[in-house]
Amino acid sequence: MLKISNYINGQLVAPVSGSYLENVNPAEGKVYSYLPDSDARDVEAAVVAAQTAFQSWSQMPLAKRAAILLKIADLIDRDLDQLALAESVDQGKPVKLAKSVDIPRASANIRFFATASMHVAAESHLMEGEAINYTTRTPIGVAGCISPWNLPLYLFTWKIAPALASGCTVVAKPSELTPMTAFLFSKLCVEAGLPAGVLNIIHGLGKKVGQAIVEHPLIPAISFTGGTVTGKTIAATAAPMFKKLSLELGGKNPNIIFADCDFEEAIATSINSSFSNQGEICLCGSRILVEHSLYDRFVNEFIKRTQALPVGDPLSETTRLGALISEGHMQKVLSYIELAKQEGGTIACGGERVKVAGRCESGYFAAPTVITGLPQTCRTNQEEIFGPVVTIMPFDAEEEVIAFANSTAYGLSATIWTNDLKRAHRVAHQLKSGIIWINCWLLRDLRTPFGGMKQSGVGREGGWEAMRFFTEAKNVCVKL
Ligand code: NDP
Repeated sequence: MLKISNYINGQLVAPVSGSYLENVNPAEGKVYSYLPDSDARDVEAAVVAAQTAFQSWSQMPLAKRAAILLKIADLIDRDLDQLALAESVDQGKPVKLAKSVDIPRASANIRFFATASMHVAAESHLMEGEAINYTTRTPIGVAGCISPWNLPLYLFTWKIAPALASGCTVVAKPSELTPMTAFLFSKLCVEAGLPAGVLNIIHGLGKKVGQAIVEHPLIPAISFTGGTVTGKTIAATAAPMFKKLSLELGGKNPNIIFADCDFEEAIATSINSSFSNQGEICLCGSRILVEHSLYDRFVNEFIKRTQALPVGDPLSETTRLGALISEGHMQKVLSYIELAKQEGGTIACGGERVKVAGRCESGYFAAPTVITGLPQTCRTNQEEIFGPVVTIMPFDAEEEVIAFANSTAYGLSATIWTNDLKRAHRVAHQLKSGIIWINCWLLRDLRTPFGGMKQSGVGREGGWEAMRFFTEAKNVCVKL
């Protein structure tokens, strides 16, 4: 069986411990490869390599640095089919989704930041007749990038691309649950001629490898995407060391449907925003709030379409929902459905594990689930489930739905469906979420600030926000 390697100082190497962890194919519930059970010693070797490489990488002419990154993006496109298949097997997502979204977005991330780095302009502030200030931005050094399992290569590249394009070198840790495409990516970096030590990928457990990265005194910036609980641990570790922190955390996103919406668009997109990637996207709209006069029609149609979604083998082209990431996560999702029943909810459809015949008979599948009849304040409506489960609740007035939408500890994204232009803007301005979509969902311009309010995160990614994060500003004031 394949043993995945770490990528340190340009070499594919075994972990110092010599130990490996099992890597499970979630659609089959079977071990299909092994990944390094790395520890602080591997992180140390990676930091030494990254520090050494920093000198030349940070000073390399921008166009040359960008050319290497663009070569990596081209290689991702060349290997689209292989990477999409690997992502689907490793994560459980439909291969069709990996091929149309995850892998193309990975190369787009790299291209976007590689080319952006060549357009960065320094700021200058003139003090009339007195002085002129200019601001330089220099790469911060070795960046630590820690990414989750839901969109493995997509989010891995979303972090490392701005870091590398800004001139930082990187020590990165993909989720232990989905190491495969980061491993394949490391091979592409070797092929593209990325200089040794510029990017180092250490596989293993968050509590060992992730923690060692966050604690390392020579890593001044940590970019993390994952759960809010892990984010708190990282913040507690990094804050006394005065590290720069970018935290992209969980969500409990409201999807607000006003009666004057375009019904067909709202319902079709809401099916996607509820169940894409098995609901394992931080931006999924897990609380659907529907204006009373449209409620019955919406619920009936939504249930009908949910029941028609094919759940099954991720490798089948017709599958819309594949496997959940792990048995533990499936149990967590199912336990929230039980909780919803205890809290007085009605399981309008779904609500159980799905048994898929054939090679996937031991896989971790759950039916797309719709729950009605719950109060806004219950745990099911307040806590992140991160699976194919949505609740639908009615509302009467605009002020009421704004209060409902803002009632959780999270503030990542929100969606509004209405044809009333003034109301769309009015509501958008009052929602405490970092990302608002009006009459659309997951329409992404990579230049825009990306991130959440409240417990959904600290800082923003995307565009110049990300390039600023990985650089230090220095103001120079010259007397005229
Ligand atoms: P986790 O927080 O469990 O893990 C994220 C990463 O952090 C993994 O690589 C994990 O390693 C690592 N990690 C765990 N413990 C530590 C630690 N003490 N120090 C450093 N690193 C650590 O999240 P999940 O992987 O379960 O991802 C799902 C979560 O991510 C959801 O809450 C989701 O909302 C959020 N998310 C947020 C997004 C956003 O942009 N806001 C986008 C996508 C997901 P290991 O796998 O070994 O535990």
